[in-house]
Amino acid sequence: MLKDQDRIFNNIYGLEDTSLNGCKKRGDWNKTKSILAKGREKIIGEIKASGLRGRGGAGFSTGMKWSFMPKEASERPHYLVINADEGEPGTCKDREILRNEPHKLIEGALVAAFAMGANTAYCYVRGEFYRETEALQRAVDEAYAAGLIGPDACGSGYAFDFYIHRGMGAYICGEESALIESLEGKKGQPRLKPPFPANVGLYGCPTTVNNVETIAVTPAIMRRGANWFADLGKPNNTGTKLFNISGHVNNPCTVEEEMGIPLKELIEKHAGGVRGGWENLKAIIPGGASVPMLPKSICDTVHMDFDSLGEVKSGLGTAAVMVMDQSTDLVRAICRLSRFYKHESCGQCTPCREGTGWMWRMMERLSDGSAELEEIDLLEEVTRQIEGHTICALGDAAAWPVQGLIRHFRDDIEQRIIERIARDAEAA
Ligand code: SF4
Repeated sequence: MLKDQDRIFNNIYGLEDTSLNGCKKRGDWNKTKSILAKGREKIIGEIKASGLRGRGGAGFSTGMKWSFMPKEASERPHYLVINADEGEPGTCKDREILRNEPHKLIEGALVAAFAMGANTAYCYVRGEFYRETEALQRAVDEAYAAGLIGPDACGSGYAFDFYIHRGMGAYICGEESALIESLEGKKGQPRLKPPFPANVGLYGCPTTVNNVETIAVTPAIMRRGANWFADLGKPNNTGTKLFNISGHVNNPCTVEEEMGIPLKELIEKHAGGVRGGWENLKAIIPGGASVPMLPKSICDTVHMDFDSLGEVKSGLGTAAVMVMDQSTDLVRAICRLSRFYKHESCGQCTPCREGTGWMWRMMERLSDGSAELEEIDLLEEVTRQIEGHTICALGDAAAWPVQGLIRHFRDDIEQRIIERIARDAEAA
């Protein structure tokens, strides 16, 4: 279990003063100038050595991503874009940072932007996060007034501006290239890659898009050292992580824990356990709506990190843990998610545009039992036709929950079809 002294987010519940003064007392903005004095290469090297992997879902090495930005400045400015378009169902970690730890994000943005030669950061905030945007803007104003950002950020001589942009609530704008399009004032639709944003990003300039939590932990890594961070968690899955635990638990919560904590321990220690006890557990979606669910038999022993969850054909995703007890109609639950993805598909590519609707309609038939048994395999085949055949990962995100359901709970689906066939026969 994470020790208090290793906690990065020490005011995540907003119980203490969230103003600049309060944040400074808890260590934010401490010797930021000396962090910048280390220079670009040293900062990127330190982030690489810490093993930090992106906290937005994909889990790519942050230091590596930063190193893709051009080393030399050209006539094209560099940009840092922060993805605060937190729309993944079940996920509510970034909003807590915006509300209660905004200075960690702004300080992290300065460090990250400096490391990549960017003088400007845009924070793209989900439109529904109105109060969160207000809290972040207050913190940005405080940071400007105190000279922590602006033409001479922290007295370092480096110019740095931080702008907030509110989105309009489209889930797909959480995809980095759709986010960039939206930021440019266009319809939020993902771009074909390559070119990648590090070459051609915002306004055609080199850009790196990072998640809020990823950026917010970087000042702590720079102050305490890469080794401290790398010693937490497990090899290749280092550091701490904000977990959101929701659903059928006694105390739903957001909590910071070490990467690699056993799923059962996470739920029992922090969320008061599963409603009705661990034996009453049916399934868990461990990383936000887009990763495949896991049955209790796997949840008993699985650990919460990228590699462990990958080994059981699921994923850490955003680390939003959705707990479902025995009372849950899993087919109905996944059907609801299928409808969500159908609604959020941007419609650019055929497998996603047509396939998400197809999956949803088939899920409706499976959920009310009106489908035939052969349709289960047909649905599985449809998910394979979508997965990996689309411009962005929304197609995969829509396919995986259905695959997880069929893989682990095929009996549940078959049972309701068999019962319906029996009812029909009796009526006839
Ligand atoms: Fe749009 Fe779906 Fe294609 Fe992504 S996969 S670009 S959301 S149609």
